[in-house]
Formats: sequence, structure tokens, C-alpha cells
Amino acid sequence: MKKVIALQPAAPATRRAAPAFRGGPLADTRGRAMRDLRISVTDRCNFRCVYCMPREVFDSNYRFLRHEDILSFEEIARLAGVFVGLGVSKIRLTGGEPLVRRNVDRLVEMLAELDAEITLTTNGSLLAKQAAALKKAGLDRVTVSLDSLDDATFRKMNDADFPVAKVIEGIETAAAAGLGPVKVNMVVKRGVNDHSIVQMAERWRGTGHIIRFIEYMDVGSTNGWKMDDVIPSAEVVRRIGARWPLEPVDPNYAGEVAERWRYLDGAGEIGVISSVTQAFCSSCTRMRLSTEGALYTCLFAQTGHDLKTLLRSGASDDELRNEIAAVWQRRADRYSEIRTAETAKNKKVEMSYIGG
Ligand code: SAM
Repeated sequence: MKKVIALQPAAPATRRAAPAFRGGPLADTRGRAMRDLRISVTDRCNFRCVYCMPREVFDSNYRFLRHEDILSFEEIARLAGVFVGLGVSKIRLTGGEPLVRRNVDRLVEMLAELDAEITLTTNGSLLAKQAAALKKAGLDRVTVSLDSLDDATFRKMNDADFPVAKVIEGIETAAAAGLGPVKVNMVVKRGVNDHSIVQMAERWRGTGHIIRFIEYMDVGSTNGWKMDDVIPSAEVVRRIGARWPLEPVDPNYAGEVAERWRYLDGAGEIGVISSVTQAFCSSCTRMRLSTEGALYTCLFAQTGHDLKTLLRSGASDDELRNEIAAVWQRRADRYSEIRTAETAKNKKVEMSYIGG
């Protein structure tokens, strides 16, 4: 098999000070506000999900970031404070696998001081051990990824031989610790785990937890994405609705990523995330901060904007604020709206680095 090289971020360009941000609502070139911040706390993961960190690329020769290159908790917390000052009201810790970063509950504790909701996305493998400490530190909610209830399928997809039961234990421990309702994310790949769709819906019906089906996306450059592998969300809704009738529900808030559907029999709701077949770029309010302190305004970006150099050069909060505001104000991306088989071949930054 041809060796695929994961895209490494470019070295920072020489910098000029950003113009002063004069306050008022911060909007990009398409009028989108900045409301959410996703922070990748590590580019490492203990899984090798075939659609995200394929083992043949992320192998023992792969060069993960060095400790000195990644932002410290103090640096992350300081930047997060600046983001909140600019209007961010929701912060999600992600990665890589955020729970493999040591003492991540300490970071949660620092972020919990801010006037923002703090959430975390995890593969669930270490959640049972850490849920109580995360809750105590001030975490509001967790989202757990689980791609199948069929053990053989799940072990194959995570490519780390990790069993379903341990993830379920993580979900239940998190809920008992007060981190629920838990959102359970399932990436659906045709011919790989789509046989698990209805079973997954059944497992979470009536539990208060919300299963969300994610269309398989062309993130990064290493997963060999093909449109044929995508099961459109409409098909997911059709398959589940044929068994338990569903009706659409209004979004909880403007810009909500998942489209909501409710069971007519009152057994709760499901969500579908349709980045491929129903792009939601026009309502995207998300900024991403990579593990090493670069800003990305799109999950499918090819380049980011180095913030660490400025941060480590003794910049004031005002300077950081101006820089972040300028990056957002320049934002014009709308990748999912213009996706084609050709753009899917672009060298995009990896999701494990940028934060999912
Ligand atoms: N390790 C954590 C986890 O497993 O949830 C957080 C990082 S992971 C990159 C975040 C989410 O992105 C997971 O729900 C994962 O399934 C999803 N994801 C990764 N690659 C994807 C792809 N190619 N298409 C759709 N979703 C993807």
C-alpha cells in the first residue's frame, strides 16, 4: 500500500500586529458570529479508528508533537479567557483523545472559572476512571464516540481491539457522576457499521441519552474517503423511522450542528450530523485551537494561524484579542458547501491534530 503522509502544519510566517479590535459583535466575512471554541489538548490517541487515525499512517514512526510544542494548561486557560471575552460561550475539549493527556481535570478546573459551558468529547476508554474527577472539576457534559454495539465491528473500527462494554461502562459512570445526558456519537461508514444503525437507536431509546449519527467525512488526508462510503443522514432517519416513527424537532439554538428527530412514541430523540449531504457552513460558529496553539476556522482547513508564537512572546491579552478577532473577521471558508470528489483530495490538516 502507498504510504500516505499526514499533513504537518507549516512554520509560522513573520508577524505584523493585528489591528485593534474595537468591540461590538464579532462577525466573519459571511456574518457568522464566533460562539464555540474547540480545543485539541493532545494529538495522541489510544485508538486508531480507521476513518480518523489509520494505523498504517499513525504508526510507530509517526512524529507526534513534542511536549514543549504543545500548549500548557495555563496557556490554554489564558487563551480561553480571551475567547470568552470575544463572545465564546461554549468550550469543548477534544483531540486526539483528551483523556490521555495527564491531569486533564486540572485544565477543566481552570476553564470552569470562565463564563462558558465546558464539555468534552472522548472515545470513552478512560472515562469510567475519570468521570467523577471531571465532574468535580466543573465539567458540564460529555460526548462519547461509539461506532457499533457489535463487538467485532467496534474492535475493527477502533483498530485497538477495544471492547464495546468498556465504553458503555464509561457512559454509565459519566451519567451517574452527573455528566449526562450523554451524547453518543456514531460515525456511519457504508458496509462497515451501517448494520448497527437500528440496534444503536434501540440501545439508547428511552435512556435519556442521545445517539447522534455522523456522516463519514473527508477530514484530513489519510482516511481514503470516498463519497460511496457515506450513508446520507436521510437514509439513517428512514431506516430508524421505519421501525419507530420519527418527527423533526426544532433546533435547541441557532447553529446547532445536529438535526434533531423525536420518536412519536415518546422514547426520546436522536440527532443526525450531515456535514456531507446538508452542509451547515452558513451557521458555523466554531473556532478551533490546535494542540500546539494554531487557530483553524474550518475542520477541513489546509492551513492554520499560529497563535503560540505571539502568546509566548509576552503578548498582552489585548494583543491576543486583536489577533484572534482579526483571524475571525477574515474568515470566508465554507468547505462543506463546495465539497467535490476533487476537493476531497486536498491536503487537509488531520482531525486528531486540529480537534474533532
Ligand atoms: N478521541 C475523541 C473521540 O473519539 O471522541 C475526540 C476526538 S475525535 C477526532 C472527535 C469525533 O470526530 C469523534 O466522534 C469521531 O468519531 C469523529 N470523527 C473522526 N473522524 C471522522 C470522520 N472521518 N468523519 C466523521 N466523524 C469523524
